[in-house]
Amino acid sequence: MNIVVLDGYTLNPGDLSWTGMEGYGSVTVYDRTEPKDVVSRIGGADAVFTNKTVLDRAVLQACPNLRFIGVLATGYNVVDVAAAKERGIPVSNIPTYGTSAVAQFVFALLLEICHHVGEHAAAVKAGDWERCPDFCFWNHPLMELKDKTMGIIGYGRIGQETGKIARAFGMKVLAYDEYPNKALEGDGVRLVSLDELYAGSDVISLHCPLFDSTKGMINSSSIAKMKDGVILINTSRGPLVVEKDLAAALESGKVAWAAVDVVSTEPIRADNPLLSQDHCMVTPHIAWAPKESRARLMAIAVENLANFAAGKPTNVVNP
Ligand code: NAD
Repeated sequence: MNIVVLDGYTLNPGDLSWTGMEGYGSVTVYDRTEPKDVVSRIGGADAVFTNKTVLDRAVLQACPNLRFIGVLATGYNVVDVAAAKERGIPVSNIPTYGTSAVAQFVFALLLEICHHVGEHAAAVKAGDWERCPDFCFWNHPLMELKDKTMGIIGYGRIGQETGKIARAFGMKVLAYDEYPNKALEGDGVRLVSLDELYAGSDVISLHCPLFDSTKGMINSSSIAKMKDGVILINTSRGPLVVEKDLAAALESGKVAWAAVDVVSTEPIRADNPLLSQDHCMVTPHIAWAPKESRARLMAIAVENLANFAAGKPTNVVNP
């Protein structure tokens, strides 16, 4: 079997190995692929892996040998799965690999907002402590999480893991899910309506998927329902937030701080309104990327390939 990986760099920048795939055929790995090169690079391959490279109907038509598409991510919107199905090509994704990593990252962002560790450490290195007349100083108000309320929108795998960590910090949890599971209530966790969550949360963390119905859900009218001085964390998908509305709320102080790992267009554009906000931290979509989490992703991708080769494809999103 000829296997092509179109954009392998973000999964494996050199600290993992592709050898697991080599047991199933000859593997060619490209770090990244421009749209104009997709068809020629797939060529006569039997199997292709993509992370964010688009495989649309025209590409599939131009690659008649293709028998398997592996997506190196959970989201598979880059593949025209209906066109693949018409051609009898199973598309396999990686349903879960980074739950703990993303939940941990929520707190990396939140703790940075509470303590500004990076900024204070840099200030010390710049001599600010030496020059300080007191034994200590801080450049921002510092905040304790205990007894604060965390609102979690989308109480699935990552949302629940985030809730567990919030509880460990002594926070109360208000959760909203389109399909609420009452069994998840108790021990400081309450499932509530979205409006109750907005009204009662000191910190709001987004964990629902991006659908037409959730696109732009954080906008000027939902922000108006939130507490003054709320903190907003987005590690889910950028388009959940109307960025210009969030920027205006940061400007006015209605939202005290925001931290986002995902933005409307990635990589971020220079004119993104969040970039100019002092009280907004933007990280480059790294919540998923600890090595342990990428290694798990790689192992599942290899397993998907092995199961396809054995005639029993797994994690198929276009059955
Ligand atoms: P999941 O499917 O386990 O949970 C999603 C939850 O959202 C489900 O409980 C679902 O019922 C709920 N939901 C669906 N529609 C909703 C709506 N309209 N309002 C509120 N809740 C709704 O998914 P997960 O593994 O927890 O992942 C959550 C999201 O995290 C993914 O969709 C993805 O966008 C994002 N993610 C980001 C990174 C990153 O690196 N930043 C990595 C992995 C996943």
